[in-house]
Amino acid sequence: MIQILSSRVKRFERGNDIVLYNPFSQQLFFTDRDDIERIGEEDLMRLNSLDVRMEPPKLRKVRVEATFGCDSACDYCLVYGNPLEQLHTAMSMETARGIIGFFNQNVREGSMMIIGGEPLTNWDVVEYLIDNIEGNAQLFTNAIKMSPKKAEFLARKGSRVYVSLDGMRRHNTHRRYHNGRETFDDTLKGYKMLQEAGISPSITCLSTQTNVYDLDEIFDFFVEELGCRAMGISIPHHTEFSHLPFMQTDIHEYTSQMAGIFKKARRGGIFVDQIAKRLAPIIQGYFRPYACKIAGEQVTFYPDGTQTLCTKLDTLPDFNGIKAEDLFNKTPYFDLTCQECEAISTCGGGCFWDAYHDGSGHDIRDCYFTRQMLNVFLWDISDFLKDRGMPITRDNLRKEYSVC
Ligand code: SF4
Ligand code: SF4
Repeated sequence: MIQILSSRVKRFERGNDIVLYNPFSQQLFFTDRDDIERIGEEDLMRLNSLDVRMEPPKLRKVRVEATFGCDSACDYCLVYGNPLEQLHTAMSMETARGIIGFFNQNVREGSMMIIGGEPLTNWDVVEYLIDNIEGNAQLFTNAIKMSPKKAEFLARKGSRVYVSLDGMRRHNTHRRYHNGRETFDDTLKGYKMLQEAGISPSITCLSTQTNVYDLDEIFDFFVEELGCRAMGISIPHHTEFSHLPFMQTDIHEYTSQMAGIFKKARRGGIFVDQIAKRLAPIIQGYFRPYACKIAGEQVTFYPDGTQTLCTKLDTLPDFNGIKAEDLFNKTPYFDLTCQECEAISTCGGGCFWDAYHDGSGHDIRDCYFTRQMLNVFLWDISDFLKDRGMPITRDNLRKEYSVC
């Protein structure tokens, strides 16, 4: 009977145990070598189903480069490490007014990501944007120029705040001022001001070779010492510094550390962005169409108010005039080389910019990470639910895996 499983159904083996998984419908079946021939008709039909709803994305997010100026000069900066247009310029209040007009008319109830450069160096514009947005604001900052008054404002407005920090003092050495002094103490001061104002800041941590072997310890530091409940732990995008040894994050080590972090995050109810985005399709039962939101969900505004998709892609002649729908059509669902991949519905295709620089057309580090994590997720689900005698239902999955 097992022969009539379609090629969409992927088989994962560990000792005697087998997981059958259809990434197109997020159907799972746990069995073993002794029982695999005895799968019932109903389970076979469910496993073979093709349940993909590929909806064209709607605009839901606006990214605002509030300034391309910064009070820091981090060694790995994605902005200064690429020949972006408008470097060192800041958004004017008049431009910010135009963006609010656009947002409140076209993206109402969506979210605005305010970033840069360092947005706090253009606080009047940031304050204006947050004060006038009809939707949610997310502020990405190094928190150096945070003050109790700004923190109180952000708390009152219900803004989400993401603070950049790469771990403990000894890991945060790439985040520096222009004079070379490290920013660690000042960022922590800003982070604590946010907490004192009642905000629970998220942390955005970049994993380089400097901290990749300590990510597990860094996770504990963020949670236990800093009281952090949500974080991102990402690897560097391509920059002109990518050839430097510290920028070449060992993707195998990163993945292994993230696999350990996943187990802790699940137990502690901690949100880790890079895990949650790949796990959610399995738990919630959907196909993740794209990883980068510029495939239709997000537009970006330069400091002068010019609208684009990605300031990095704008530096590549190959992407001149590219539209969101062109990028949507490059995502795994439409990519023949992805059709047989077990991670087709959880990866989203990674970053278009990194895929271009990889030369393979795929974001290969992201492919590796996503595929490995899929294994980790499936065996964790198998062990966790089986140990408790819980059937694999969508409700049980949501109950046990909804946070991380
Ligand atoms: S992991 Fe890589 S090969 Fe697999 S679907 Fe994603 S982009 Fe394609
Ligand atoms: S293509 Fe890459 S660098 Fe550009 S917005 Fe998307 S994720 Fe960011």
